[in-house]
Parts: sequence; C-alpha cells; structure tokens
Amino acid sequence: MGEAGWGPSGIISPLSDMLSVAEARERILSQFKPVATESLSLVACGNRVLAVDIAAATDLPLFDNSSMDGFAVRAAESVNAAADARVTLRVVADIAAGSSPTVSLAKGEAARIMTGAQIPRGADAVIPVEDTDFQDRQAGTQAPETISFAREVKTGENIRPRGMDMHTGDIVLRTGHLLRPQDLGLLAMLGVANVEVYRRPRVALLSSGDELLEVDAPLQPGKIRDSNSYTIAALIQGTGAEVIRLGVARDTRQSVETLLETAITENVDLILSTAGVSVGAFDFVKEVIESHGSLDFWRVNMRPGKPLAFGEYRGIRFIGLPGNPVSAFVGFEVFVRDLIQRLSGQLNKGRVRVRVRCEEEIQSDGRESYLRAQVHEVDGVLSAKLTGHQGSGNLLSLVQASALLIIPAGVKCVPAGQEVEAWLI
Ligand code: AMP
Ligand code: MG
Repeated sequence: MGEAGWGPSGIISPLSDMLSVAEARERILSQFKPVATESLSLVACGNRVLAVDIAAATDLPLFDNSSMDGFAVRAAESVNAAADARVTLRVVADIAAGSSPTVSLAKGEAARIMTGAQIPRGADAVIPVEDTDFQDRQAGTQAPETISFAREVKTGENIRPRGMDMHTGDIVLRTGHLLRPQDLGLLAMLGVANVEVYRRPRVALLSSGDELLEVDAPLQPGKIRDSNSYTIAALIQGTGAEVIRLGVARDTRQSVETLLETAITENVDLILSTAGVSVGAFDFVKEVIESHGSLDFWRVNMRPGKPLAFGEYRGIRFIGLPGNPVSAFVGFEVFVRDLIQRLSGQLNKGRVRVRVRCEEEIQSDGRESYLRAQVHEVDGVLSAKLTGHQGSGNLLSLVQASALLIIPAGVKCVPAGQEVEAWLI
C-alpha cells in the first residue's frame, strides 16, 4: 500500500497526542487481511476480486481466421495484379464462421470466407470483398463462380494467426485483480467457467444519537434526519462490499448492545459507525464495546474528521467515524476505503489522484485538510474552486464538489495559482 501522495503527514505531529493521518491509516490497515475465497460461476464474477492467477489454457485466437469478409487467396498469385491486369480466381469453397474448411486451395483458386472463419489450407491472405468485383454482401447470397481483383494482396493480409494475442500458459490475469466486464469476456474466451474469487467483505453500519430520525419520520423539535447511513452505505457498496444496515443506535446501553449483537450474528468483517467519537460523547458505545473488546479514541491531525475511534467487539474490528456528514465522508475516504479494498483482496486499484491549480488563496490551520472543490479544465489545466463554506455539517458543499483538495499538514496558506493534490470523488 504505497503512501506516496499522502503529503508530509508521515511526520509526527507537533501535538504529541495527535496522530498523523498516515500513522492512523497504517495502524488501521495493519489490522486487516483479505477475507476467504469461494468458487463462483463466471456470470457472477463481475466486480469480484480474483484469488488465483489465470494462465491461458489455449492459444488465442484458437485458429488462423479471417478479420474481414472476403476471399481467401494464395498471395503469390496476386503479385502482378493491377487495373489493367486483373487477377481472376475460381471460387471453390464458401467458408462460414463456425465451419471448419476441408478444402485446400490449389493454384488459381479462392474461397469465400466470412469474418472469424477458419482459413483453409493453401490460403495465406484474405482480400476484402469490397476490393473484388463481387460486391454483394447480403446474407444468403450464393458465392460467385469466380472473382477478380486489381491489386496485390500481401502474405498474411487480413489473417489473424493462431496465438497472435496470447499463447497457452501465458499468465493473463493475476490474483488481486478486480474483474471488469472485459476480464469476464477474456475468461470466457479461455473456457474458464468457474472462478476462484474472494468473497465480498461484509460491513455492518450503524448511526448513533438520540437526535436522529428515519428519513420518512415526521420532524420533531431538536431532531435531525439520519443522513450518514445513506451516504456511508452507498460508499461501502461502491467498494464492492456488502452493507448490513443496523439502523440507529439510541443513546442507551441496551440499544447499542442489540445492534452490535446483530453485527455478530451477521458475521461481518467490520463494524462501522458514525457519530459520538468526540470528547464526552459515545459513553454507551464505549462501555458496551469495552465490555466485550476494546476501544481507543484517537485525535488525528486532519480537518475535517479529527476524532476517530478504533477497536474491536467480540473479535470484529470496529471503526467509529465522526458524526458530521462531511467528516464521516472524508473519514471513510481516508481510513475506510483502502481497508475494505484490503479485505476484498484487491491489489490493483489505486485512487484517482490529480494535481489541480487553486483558483483562489486557501487558508488552512496546519492540519492535513480535505477541502471540497469543483474541478474543471481551463486551457488544458485542471483548476479548482472551493464549493462554499467548509463547515463539516455542510453536505451541500460536498454535493457540489467533484474533488477533495488535500492541503498537507503544516501548510497554512496556499496562494492562488499554486498546485495541490486532489482526489476526484
Ligand atoms: P457527534 O459526533 O455525535 O458529536 O455528532 C456531530 C454532529 O453530527 C452533530 O451535529 C450530529 O447531530 C451530527 N450527526 C450525527 N450522526 C448523524 C447522522 N447519522 N446523520 C446526520 N448527522 C449526524
Ligand atoms: Mg451524538
């Protein structure tokens, strides 16, 4: 897991009880390893992570075949072809895709051939139908008795030789690779009907706080709607993991315990919560978790999202993200995304990082800051503009953003025109 691009946050924070972002990430990541594997039929393998290397069991293409609809010929017979010296050949076979030709072309002979069809013995080139005097390409048309053409055909022209793409034994996909649509197609080409993949990580998600209402509940004085469970659930799903929504834990021991026990019966790989990690809060969660495990409260040298809880409940790792909607999102991106990736066995997908030019001067307080910005292209350069006030409750500014700008720890001012790193979101 490369730390490049994480800025100077590897430096120990001057505030001795604060962890740098890199330290906190490493402490978390080091606690996770990939989940178990399972064998699935190919059709179910989209977005799964390969748990084995795949060696080609055949050459591809499987046999020499035509890349055009046309006529298979012997190239040597076309050497002197020209407008005033047309070459005429007898058409002795009609080779459809899927058939295996039995003919062998002799001198003066050609065979009509369709794209993908196997090249007959004796032929070493294909002249496209549009370069011949036979222009009828409609399905079902009989092959002509003869064809003529007025140009030289090079040896090998329009033939895709066996093994041109890969040979038997070549390693074409490796363990840890996230299977994309084109990968499934290749596995099918190679006859891989069942694939050993990592199972999907299971992540339990809970919100906490007596102020939280369900999205469809009538408003009540002093209460707000639980939005984090929607944002974070969708982020989890976006990683390919399964979400087990535990709902809202009330500020009582019983409520917290009930939800955490559900996580245990659901056999999850990680429990994620939002809210209650700041000073003084979270007493019940702390108490319940510590009665069956352990919980540390960290202060991370970042903004937003300074408070973070990390522990374990009945052997399952627990991460408590802050409650403010933007802090929860940033906390997920910084600490959770990569660990779910590690759980999932995935090795190949890095985050999209870009350098962007700040359109305005940006003030920071010296913590590693993740700022919401809109990125667009100006004269071929990516340019960033903050999306309004950066309060950690202002979800609209995150909605309007297309990137998080990263201001490294220790930097208090980024002048307009300077470049910083950004994550596209
Ligand atoms: P806390 O971390 O509990 O101090 O909460 C910080 C802020 O986040 C408070 O304003 C909470 O009301 C808010 N908050 C906590 N949980 C959620 C949630 N699930 N959805 C939206 N806002 C929340
Ligand atoms: Mg709270």
